[in-house]
Amino acid sequence: MSSVETTTLTLPNDQDASGRDFGIEEMTALDAVLASGTLTSTKGAFVKNFEREFAEHIGASHAYACASGSAAVHTALAALDLEPGDEVITTSITDMGALAPILYQAAIPVFADVDPRTCNVTAATIEAALSARTRAIIVTHLFGNPCEMEAILELARARHLPVIEDAAQAFGARYRGRHVGTLGTIGCFSLQQGKHITCGEGGIVVTDDPALARRMYLYINKGWGYGDPHPDHYFLALNYRISELQGAVALAQLGKLDRHVEIRRERAAALTNALADVPGLEVPYVYDGAEHSYWKYALRLDPAIYPEGPPALARLLKDANVAAVPRYIAKPAFMCEVFQKRRTFGTSAFPLTLARPETLDYRLERFPGTAEGLAHVLVLPINERYELEHVSYVADAVRSAAADLRSARA
Ligand SMILES: *Cc1c(COP(=O)(O)O)cnc(C)c1O
Repeated sequence: MSSVETTTLTLPNDQDASGRDFGIEEMTALDAVLASGTLTSTKGAFVKNFEREFAEHIGASHAYACASGSAAVHTALAALDLEPGDEVITTSITDMGALAPILYQAAIPVFADVDPRTCNVTAATIEAALSARTRAIIVTHLFGNPCEMEAILELARARHLPVIEDAAQAFGARYRGRHVGTLGTIGCFSLQQGKHITCGEGGIVVTDDPALARRMYLYINKGWGYGDPHPDHYFLALNYRISELQGAVALAQLGKLDRHVEIRRERAAALTNALADVPGLEVPYVYDGAEHSYWKYALRLDPAIYPEGPPALARLLKDANVAAVPRYIAKPAFMCEVFQKRRTFGTSAFPLTLARPETLDYRLERFPGTAEGLAHVLVLPINERYELEHVSYVADAVRSAAADLRSARA
């Protein structure tokens, strides 16, 4: 019998007002935009101010806002000006928005395996995926937990490869004191509804490299050289701008980011504390020198103690109104139809037609860390509107559900 039913609490949800932090700051900024009558960022000041303040906030020389996290990754790749068929090393445990842009740039995603403890790529798994055709590396700091960047950057430097950091889930996360997104060549962020700060949809790219910054700015603006003496469409590019309305909300949200991260860290620490002694549950593993910013709180279950794994625990938690997600993503990205059936441009299968056969070998046994990581992870929701009572409630529900699973076996 489950002992978690007595009083169910409704947890703050990041898909509505209960789990988001919108108030007078956003309203005032939106009012100012509408009063100005200028909704395009090419003429207004809000997006520009947001970009300047975000760059300052994370310690990057240049930041540009764009339409989404997917657009951010696309803009980063476009800035590198890859040739069709070039290989980009990435991870299969990430958002599709981090992968589709590789195909759109006619490059080949080469999936590196992950450390099952964090579900993050490592220098060793990246090295195993390198080839003479590798032109870039994208790392995702999954759940807000930084990759072990020192070894990754050392490898990248030795091979003269740019590193794109996908920090869409990792606002406020740091590695050796520096914000993730500023360690590699280009950093990418998402302002989508469920991230640390949001304007509904949106993204940000950051870099210290002026030439890459220039190409990213142009890419977001159809390749058009605004302000140049003789502007032209210099290369193939899209309109990836956000509007001043989004910029206004993003700017107001940026003022709250540090507090959001601080609250998430405090709540996560309380959860870790409350769950640390539960048999067979591993709290988030954080690499030496890394500071997690807890977009989500990922537990690992020991299969020897919970043979039915995260799905069984998630079912019990659902009864207690805790929306825990086993596996995070249902399957590794390369198991999705876009890769399995090569559904890209018409029936061409381009650019995968340019790939080395080895990079299209998507058998799961080639990715043991990925298989293990996904099989054992349970993702608990957390956000900046969680109070300590919510943390206690989640912790009690997890402890009780885990105890039920253990006693069912005894
Ligand atoms: C959310 C997310 C993206 C895509 O961002 P969108 O704004 O949804 O396009 C990319 N990568 C990661 C790791 C994400 O979490």
